[in-house]
Amino acid sequence: MKKITVIGAGTGGAIVANSLARNLKKEIQKGQVQVTVFDGAKYHEFQPAYLGVAFRGSNKNAIKRPIRSLLHPDVKLINENCSEINLANEFVVGEKPGQRIDFDYIVIALGCKPDPGQIPGLTEANLDFHTNAQASSIVYDRISKFKGGKIVTGITGLPYKCPPSPNESTFLLHEFFTKKGIRDRVKLSFITPYLRPYPAEPISEVIEPLYKERNIETVLGFNVDSVDPVKKKVFSVEGESVSYDELFLVPPHATPNVIRKAEFSDDEGWVVVDKRDLHVKNYDYAFAIGDNTNLPISKAGVEAHLEGIVVANNISAEIKGISERYLFTGRFQCTMETGFHKATFVVGTYQKPVKKIYPSFANYVKKKIMSKIYWNAELGKCEWLFKLNFGKDYYDVIRDGKTAAPAARAIPN
Ligand SMILES: Cc1cc2nc3c(=O)[nH]c(=O)nc-3n(C[C@H](O)[C@H](O)[C@H](O)COP(=O)(O)OP(=O)(O)OC[C@H]3O[C@@H](n4cnc5c(N)ncnc54)[C@H](O)[C@@H]3O)c2cc1C
Repeated sequence: MKKITVIGAGTGGAIVANSLARNLKKEIQKGQVQVTVFDGAKYHEFQPAYLGVAFRGSNKNAIKRPIRSLLHPDVKLINENCSEINLANEFVVGEKPGQRIDFDYIVIALGCKPDPGQIPGLTEANLDFHTNAQASSIVYDRISKFKGGKIVTGITGLPYKCPPSPNESTFLLHEFFTKKGIRDRVKLSFITPYLRPYPAEPISEVIEPLYKERNIETVLGFNVDSVDPVKKKVFSVEGESVSYDELFLVPPHATPNVIRKAEFSDDEGWVVVDKRDLHVKNYDYAFAIGDNTNLPISKAGVEAHLEGIVVANNISAEIKGISERYLFTGRFQCTMETGFHKATFVVGTYQKPVKKIYPSFANYVKKKIMSKIYWNAELGKCEWLFKLNFGKDYYDVIRDGKTAAPAARAIPN
């Protein structure tokens, strides 16, 4: 029997496990393959909705589902965190004593989380909308009570997930206080280590005029060094400081300890993968997808989803003995709401640079559709829509050493 273990049942892990269960249905039924998932969380939260909870007061309980309900019935769930991943000896260890699982293939999809402890004072001073729904709802309580003063948003360390989210939070604050009728009493200031409001120049050119028009200050080239929660000041490595009344910064992010302590992660704790077939360096049978990788693209759910399909197809092809390989093109896509029912997209691949896309109502509707279909997409019920939207832009198919027509591929996803 071939044992496939997926570590993490978030956006990418659920997709890869469910795709494997569909691709290998016959083999699973015959007892030739087993797909097992490890995740210690009870619930899967739809993270993009944290922004709605923090800045629009959306219901924090409506954005989560039990992890089991998002997995194909043929996928076995071990509702436990993984405490060791041993790639050389092909086993993982759970938290309970004696919980050791051997594997033939492994997919690591543990994501990353805010790690405010990297910056002195940040934990005490800051409220963030990247940690969970509960923390995001506290941001909403604070802004609801805010009568006027200075709010500082922005970026404290790289990389972090969903690159547009700090900008988005600033636009949503502008919308919130405008609707409340007190925008003239609120100063919004956006700090960033970059020398422009968004790292990709074409998007920066799109949003810079919006910042000016909406009277949002930008503090560029500001690398956060520390925060003084008593004096209410953020200090930069460059020796500058910015004062605040409320602080909603996106903290630096880190992978879980089980990855950071492993030999297969780099000095900063990201899993080192091949950027095309996503195998972990030195291990042909181990793969990593989503936010925990060192891939040179944005950390976002769409990427985790597309990478999950690529990896599931490659493992399935190998088990079925089909000479077909899928190579990820680095397709990324992040939405940035600019407020008042408009949004832009940051889209590209390893080869295709980001283009200028102006905010529109149509893009906002697309974002809303993605959030409505998210749970079904995790279950694999919306692959047709993903194909329609992403086409063959996210992988190349290689058969017998040559590029093949995607329509002729043998694996169905
Ligand atoms: C505010 C915000 C807005 C966002 N907006 C967008 C957007 O508009 N579009 C977009 O595409 N993306 C967006 N994202 C990013 C997106 O949510 C993530 O990139 C995506 O969830 C990454 O998927 P993943 O599978 O890599 O990690 P995750 O979905 O985070 O899953 C990781 C899983 O690993 C589990 N885990 C952790 N440690 C262990 C352990 N030791 N053992 C076992 N399991 C463990 C966790 O419980 C979790 O279930 C946003 C994120 C935030 C915070």
